[in-house]
Amino acid sequence: MVDIDLARRGIKDRNVLDAARNVAREAFVDPGFEEFAYEDGPLPIGDGQTISQPYIVALMIEAAGVKPGDKVLEVGTGSGYAAAVMARIARRVYTIERHAALGHSARERLERLGFDNIELRVGDGTKGWLEAAPFDAVIVAAGAPGPPQMLMDQLDVGGLLIIPVGPEVSSQRLMKITRISGTKFEEEDLGGVMFVPLIGEGLPSV
Ligand code: SAM
Repeated sequence: MVDIDLARRGIKDRNVLDAARNVAREAFVDPGFEEFAYEDGPLPIGDGQTISQPYIVALMIEAAGVKPGDKVLEVGTGSGYAAAVMARIARRVYTIERHAALGHSARERLERLGFDNIELRVGDGTKGWLEAAPFDAVIVAAGAPGPPQMLMDQLDVGGLLIIPVGPEVSSQRLMKITRISGTKFEEEDLGGVMFVPLIGEGLPSV
């Protein structure tokens, strides 16, 4: 999967490719879906949510420039797969899931698999994780009408926010937002994506 779906489709970052090789995706899919775990597509994980496509997970982590020593925030833990891939690279991963049942099973799974550098919280990730900020990178695994200000404010200077943005699922763009200074942010459009909606109180009204 890593060679065919990630490397041949343009993922170049060695850290990301090695990390994806070191996380068994079959441990993150629901029972009965193991045979599809290494196909490059999203799969259902309950509560109407999905484990993201491996290529998109790798693309987002590469775009966020996650590197050894980093402190990273993920909004939308889902199965815990993306958090696990990032935890193979970063120093510490903070991840927030809105659905309690998904959050609890992801926590149980990550503990069982021995990940000891992931902090997981059930709650509204649109507000970020203030006590752990600032972050080198923030990755949002759900689509928003615009980037939540609280997530932008919790980036370190030079930090990157990767977030699908768009009014509807069919018209989301993956945005890379770089904090240039205390008040200055730069945006880059990385292309079209499709994600389940980000739901929370910290969404901008657009
Ligand atoms: N990264 C996940 C993985 O590797 O399995 C896939 C994430 S799934 C595409 C998106 C997740 O975002 C869902 O589990 C959904 O419940 C969650 N979500 C939506 N709004 C949220 C919010 N405000 N805070 C935290 N999680 C949220």
